Amino acid sequence: MVENWKKNEEFMRITCLDLEGVLVPEIWINVAEKTGIDELKLTTRDIPDYDELMMKRMKIIKEHQLTLKDIQEVIATLEPMEGAVNFLDWLRENSQVVILSDTFEEFAKPLMRKLKMPALFCHSLVIDSHFQIVNYKLRIPDAKKKAVKAFKELNFETIAAGDSFNDVSMLKEADHGFFFCPPENISSQYPQFPVSKNYVELQEKIANCFK
Ligand SMILES: [Mg+2]
Repeated sequence: MVENWKKNEEFMRITCLDLEGVLVPEIWINVAEKTGIDELKLTTRDIPDYDELMMKRMKIIKEHQLTLKDIQEVIATLEPMEGAVNFLDWLRENSQVVILSDTFEEFAKPLMRKLKMPALFCHSLVIDSHFQIVNYKLRIPDAKKKAVKAFKELNFETIAAGDSFNDVSMLKEADHGFFFCPPENISSQYPQFPVSKNYVELQEKIANCFK
């Protein structure tokens, strides 16, 4: 790991990180594996249109009568990716940090505890009286990009890192955008964003933004 690069301006910086695929495993893929429902393995890497993807997921969940509780039980068994907690500790010492995710409050909490409760902006689910997921509420369309844009208006220098299609508008908006372990078919479409394959590489790239 590179040395800390604290300067007086450190609190003028904010780093926006995607959650799944950057700090924690893909939640839906793990739910698919645990429940044996293969169709739930689709992610934004496969279907870039988030609404289309969520509609498909909810249809599959309904068909299999999976409840929020079933999904929460799977999520409770997940751990952050190896090195994620140390990386986030280092980042929080050196910049403001917010997690910008397309997951849901109802899914995220156990994982956030394991990451020491960083700030999280995400969406929420609509649940019926039988704990069935019946719909979802986006905080706002294109939330990741809009958050970065708002931080810039608040005079922050912005850094962003993500792994997938749903991060691209955020990476474009940020002063410094990075891919973290993206699939080759995504990173090759956006060669302007440097690729990191592990936390050491990402930490070096972020530290270099402020030299
Ligand atoms: Mg992701």
